[in-house]
Amino acid sequence: MSTAPPDEAGLDRRVRDFLAVHDPAATDRRDFLRARFDAGLAWVHYPPGLGGLGAPRALQDGVDRLFAAAGAPGNRPERNAIGLGMAAPTILAFGTDEQKKRFLRPLWTGEEVWCQLFSEPGAGSDLAALATRAVRDGDGWTVDGQKVWTSMAHEARFAILVARTDPGVPKHRGMTYFVCDMTDPGVEVRPLRQMTGEAEFNEVFLTGARIPDEHRLGAVGDGWRVAMATLMNERVAIGGHAAPREGGMIGVVAALWRDRPDLRTPGLHAELLRLWADAEAARLTGERLRQQLAAGAPGPEGSAAKLAFARLNQEISGLELELLAEDGLRYDDWTMRRPAEVDFTRRSPGYRYLRAKGNSIEGGTSEILRNIVAERILGLPAEPRADKDVPWKDLPK
Ligand SMILES: Cc1cc2nc3c(=O)[nH]c(=O)nc-3n(C[C@H](O)[C@H](O)[C@H](O)COP(=O)(O)OP(=O)(O)OC[C@H]3O[C@@H](n4cnc5c(N)ncnc54)[C@H](O)[C@@H]3O)c2cc1C
Repeated sequence: MSTAPPDEAGLDRRVRDFLAVHDPAATDRRDFLRARFDAGLAWVHYPPGLGGLGAPRALQDGVDRLFAAAGAPGNRPERNAIGLGMAAPTILAFGTDEQKKRFLRPLWTGEEVWCQLFSEPGAGSDLAALATRAVRDGDGWTVDGQKVWTSMAHEARFAILVARTDPGVPKHRGMTYFVCDMTDPGVEVRPLRQMTGEAEFNEVFLTGARIPDEHRLGAVGDGWRVAMATLMNERVAIGGHAAPREGGMIGVVAALWRDRPDLRTPGLHAELLRLWADAEAARLTGERLRQQLAAGAPGPEGSAAKLAFARLNQEISGLELELLAEDGLRYDDWTMRRPAEVDFTRRSPGYRYLRAKGNSIEGGTSEILRNIVAERILGLPAEPRADKDVPWKDLPK
């Protein structure tokens, strides 16, 4: 029997064979997802044994479509977006065989939700300034510090964590990357309410949290390189979605325009057309990015896609409020909630407008992404770095 990765026809056949044995209507959701993972039909580009078949990444959409058409349960990517979009590719690239086997299956099925313990009160854009300390302690590490803006920490079983393990070397070189068990008694999660009224994210206090050394991802001191892999994937995960024409917010506003001729003015028409064309250009660029990705690792282009996504979401949600005037400002619900997903299309215009503000901050601010585009795509000179060779402990805090 050939061990070559399957092509499109081979994958179609495998999905149909799988569905013939696992009837989605008659199989428990969790069992179905586990079996799909074990059959290598979860993320087909992952290696055999880890939910994939080593097939081209571009064939994933076709597999997903076949499962959806058969009424198969999804693995709720919106709830475990950080796990699927960021933790998984990092574990695949830097994890040991044991780590891959332990973490990837329950991550994909959604049985274990993940969060990202990167940002700190004094280290956001400048992630390498982080102060959370991990100190070697027998066969593990003891971690002390504070993280902030941690989406989904209240739901998460595990976190990807970057901590400082050597304050005596320049900041980028003294960090190490870990998997933190959020159920450890040294981990405290406190809700942080944002301007939508909801608390999607949290402060996380780490006080003597224990991490076994086998939960270290990558070499000691190599945390910056591992974190960069996560952040590249984060930008693609946020900005690089496959979407149909008029998918997302532009579709919501275009529908409003069609349904409510009474709101139209020539000025708003021109603005809608400009944003429609921009959204379509961003969608097609995203599609090209996805095809490039199929051929290799995410590059700096993901930063440009995320930048465009944030700008468009903010401009389109602003246009919607202009169209609706005072009606648009009515808010749907100020109850303190802890949503498991961010859903722009099913919420009110007021929510969309407020939540879109976060798009240019989360996953790297637009200013930082412009720097990346300038330096890594356009080849412009880098920002001066006065702290490059100074040990972290000697930097002004
Ligand atoms: C909704 C939401 C969810 C989030 N979820 C998570 C999460 O799950 N996990 C996590 O770890 N973090 C999360 N974050 C945090 C996010 O990654 C940080 O807020 C972001 O990196 C910016 O850091 P900061 O807030 O410390 O701002 P700062 O870095 O203090 O920046 C303040 C301002 O200065 C600008 N600036 C800073 N440096 C430069 C520079 N060199 N050149 C030009 N301008 C610059 C910034 O662009 C920004 O406008 C989330 C944020 C939001 C809004």
